[in-house]
Amino acid sequence: MWCYSVSPMAFFIKYNKLSLFLCLLSSSLATLLTLSQGDHIPWETQYPFIRLSSTFSSRSSPPSSSSSAKSSPSNGGEKEYYDYIVVGGGTAGCPLAATLSQNYRVLLLERGGVPFTNRNVSFLSNFHLTLADTSDTSASQYFVSNDGVFNARARVLGGGTAINAGFYTRASARYVTRVGWDAKLVNESYPWVEKQVVHEPIFEPWQRAVRDGLLDVGVSPDNGFTYDHLYGTKVGGTIFDKYGRRHTAAELLSSANPHNLDVLIHARVQKIMFDTTGKKPRVVGVLFKDEHGEPHEAFISRKHGSEVLVTCGAIGSPQLLLLSGIGPKEDLVKLNISMVHHNKFVGKNMSDNPMNAIYVPFNRHVKQSLIETVGITKKGVYIEASSGYGQSMDSIHCHHGIVSAEIGQLSTIPPKKRTQEAIETYKRNKKDIPYEAFHGGFILEKIAYPKSKGELKLVNTNADNNPSVVFNYFSHPDDLKSCVHGVRMMEKLVRSKPFLNYTQYDDKTVNKFLNLSVTANVNLIPRHTNDTESLEQFCKDTVITIWHYHGGCHVGKVVNKDYEVMGVHRLRVIDGSTFEESPGTNPQATVMMMGRAIEKNVVNFIQPVVAGDTRRVGDINLSSSKSGQSWNSLSASPPHEANSQLIMII
Ligand SMILES: Cc1cc2nc3c(=O)[nH]c(=O)nc-3n(C[C@H](O)[C@H](O)[C@H](O)COP(=O)(O)OP(=O)(O)OC[C@H]3O[C@@H](n4cnc5c(N)ncnc54)[C@H](O)[C@@H]3O)c2cc1C
Repeated sequence: MWCYSVSPMAFFIKYNKLSLFLCLLSSSLATLLTLSQGDHIPWETQYPFIRLSSTFSSRSSPPSSSSSAKSSPSNGGEKEYYDYIVVGGGTAGCPLAATLSQNYRVLLLERGGVPFTNRNVSFLSNFHLTLADTSDTSASQYFVSNDGVFNARARVLGGGTAINAGFYTRASARYVTRVGWDAKLVNESYPWVEKQVVHEPIFEPWQRAVRDGLLDVGVSPDNGFTYDHLYGTKVGGTIFDKYGRRHTAAELLSSANPHNLDVLIHARVQKIMFDTTGKKPRVVGVLFKDEHGEPHEAFISRKHGSEVLVTCGAIGSPQLLLLSGIGPKEDLVKLNISMVHHNKFVGKNMSDNPMNAIYVPFNRHVKQSLIETVGITKKGVYIEASSGYGQSMDSIHCHHGIVSAEIGQLSTIPPKKRTQEAIETYKRNKKDIPYEAFHGGFILEKIAYPKSKGELKLVNTNADNNPSVVFNYFSHPDDLKSCVHGVRMMEKLVRSKPFLNYTQYDDKTVNKFLNLSVTANVNLIPRHTNDTESLEQFCKDTVITIWHYHGGCHVGKVVNKDYEVMGVHRLRVIDGSTFEESPGTNPQATVMMMGRAIEKNVVNFIQPVVAGDTRRVGDINLSSSKSGQSWNSLSASPPHEANSQLIMII
């Protein structure tokens, strides 16, 4: 059932017939909307290469040097060895696999299911329901960082784009230069994504008030609707269309060559397999479990350049490297993991951009909106907002963590007593909070460049479990300063004229809003109610995540500038785990772009399937580079000119 968690009967008794009727009505409307958009082609027809992982038949060994890769139609027999195995069908993995498949045999392994038939994923109105669903089959895997902050990681084809708030905005030109990407290639790759999955939002009145309010308080100029990262206030893109229907990175797979691509869902990769007989360990394939828990092995071909590309996200990628024996020696030893390569930086320097929000109750109903407007300040703080918790009473009473508009009860329990049981009791009690308490919206601030760093460690060798993660929010004093600046901006915004229209509150109310946020159930951190005098304390007590966590496989530390994992052959990491800073105000645009753009350079790497098997990358001089920059210029070079350029493989 679309409405989450409470059985229809309980729902009926608890509330009333009208509520149930409304819930069913919205569900039917959603179905109608789906049909009216011509989406009636079953996903199995649209994406014939996606199948259950149990249908994969393993080979018993890696290819010998004499064997050659064979190919057959993707939905027919097995392809024997792949040019590329992409692990993680997320924001970077889908565009990467789709583009690679134009010329190479590609296997994409995703641990979750498909997003297409999942109503919680598909509709904007259900954004919070996916996050609230903490079951093993949820598209979102819930975790709590050791800081005591609720968090989520994707577990579905499409990755973060299937569970996120949809805001789409590019990285700044300065960011692109700083990380050494080729601006031309970047500028060609964003539109490839945008044409397929990005939309201009229907600008809701509340978002209009936020925009006007931001301009009122001096976050100017007004940059209108743009994907570009510019100081001032702007409206960005969204992956939700005008029907409120989500378009995910999984849809980028429709650009794939269906004959060259196999996508396996519910394929949980356990580890990367190596041949350790040579001087340097060389990747041969991966071990994964299917939906029944049965193990399978998949291998890359022996062709020079054939690789495993890890795109499991900022939590999944360092986790998989560690599980595969790449990481700090002492940590691997503790868990009896055979060491393949000692690298003390794997899982280190994890960052999460702290977010603090003020809940603003309104004097009337406002439509639901996620992020549409953003204020980009010169002090490294971004201001965004969301509104409305429409739908049914049922969904409203779910446990939403950050997106919870409820007035918390958990915070009244002393921190040490905040056990799982206490949380469950809290969730049950929450159902008694009146519906009227939920008219309102959030204003939030994100710190753009947090200097506080954390780390990720394995707790066990089960790939399905979350590793332990700590972000050490506000351990660096500069982050606290930025936060206080952001809270002051939010205060001004609440007091601005465009907002008064919604609140009709006077100046004194701001403190009330702050206290409301302090008492709300936003994290498990001990808090100091009624201490809003100290904005530093407010920042620490109410810190939450905007889910833009990154790091763990930094360039120069874990991967080189071509995103190759240092110390081993045939392995790259391509996703948010390689970022030192999160790109743009929100990262998904750049992560999808990266999947596309990086492949454009890989194209020159091994010989395309279609052109026979005569040229090997081994024949090409990999060590020289015209520009000396990473993943530059290659798109402009035809393959026959590649020898001076291939250093920029990625
Ligand atoms: C709730 C939420 C809201 C957000 N809102 C926004 C927003 O509005 N705008 C924005 O720009 N960004 C937003 N973000 C952030 C953005 O979505 C992420 O930064 C981005 O999607 C990360 O991309 P990735 O490729 O690094 O990882 P992911 O997209 O998470 O991809 C990793 C994939 O790997 C799979 N995987 C992991 N381990 C394994 C394994 N062992 N075997 C097989 N598969 C595996 C996962 O299931 C997943 O599909 C949000 C994120 C969340 C969670």
